[in-house]
Amino acid sequence: MAATVTRFAPSPTGLLHLGHAHAALAAWRAGDRCLLRIEDIDTTRCRPEFTAAILADLGWLGLTWDAPPRRQSAHFAEYRATLDRLSGRGLLYPCFCTRGEIAREVAAAGRAPQGPDGPLYPGTCRRLTAAGRAARIARGDAFALRLDMAAALAAAPGDLSFHEAGEGRLRCDPGQFGDVVLARKDVPASYHLCVTHDDALQGVTLVTRGEDLKPATHLHRLLQTLLGWPEPGYAHHRLLADAAGRRLAKRDGAPSLRSLRDAGMTPAEVRALAGFADPALPP
Ligand code: GLU
Repeated sequence: MAATVTRFAPSPTGLLHLGHAHAALAAWRAGDRCLLRIEDIDTTRCRPEFTAAILADLGWLGLTWDAPPRRQSAHFAEYRATLDRLSGRGLLYPCFCTRGEIAREVAAAGRAPQGPDGPLYPGTCRRLTAAGRAARIARGDAFALRLDMAAALAAAPGDLSFHEAGEGRLRCDPGQFGDVVLARKDVPASYHLCVTHDDALQGVTLVTRGEDLKPATHLHRLLQTLLGWPEPGYAHHRLLADAAGRRLAKRDGAPSLRSLRDAGMTPAEVRALAGFADPALPP
């Protein structure tokens, strides 16, 4: 049987906490090979010092990786080339709207269908003429690139599905995302684009990640199909919660792995707290 390739893909926007340790260990345990990917395209929120801390904390935890870590911020040209492929097929359009304009339009429409990433985009810029678009671009107006969902669904006919570990095949409904942003105004790519690109490029065969990202898989299968990329399996794991039942999050004061280490805990104790008591790893 082919080797299972998994990955842990943190975004360096802060120090890792127990929830991240759970995710990292889940990926590490599920794969014959496990890769580390630093998802740092959002240059407004990610910091090199957090990347350094992630590498150090995972090393302390006893995890090793089967290839040098991939840093997404070094690969914008590859994401650009992927966007160009979609654009060349008429599946993307520039969107000049500000958040405020979208919010006002949604409010004026009197209803706001919600997608997994927030209210669905009302399609304002999809209706611009080619000349109108060209004029705004020539004027230097900033724009995002959105997927024309109706066109994308027409270009990927048939039922899409994914295989979820322990559940079997689940049907996809990518349309729930509407005209999702694939390149932001301030960052020339997006999470959905980069994650599917990199999982394909790195030969990931089993995507393990938190169950909060399960809805995103519906869209990722559409992108994989449009781009001719292989279909990985999926294993969405539970999210660790605090004593009050709230999902662990930095903003709610979840203790960092670093603070647990500074308080004298051993890697084995931290791994056990994260839900993985693994005697095969060093103490
Ligand atoms: N970078 C994402 C995060 O930190 C995870 C992406 C993924 O595993 O697909 O939430």
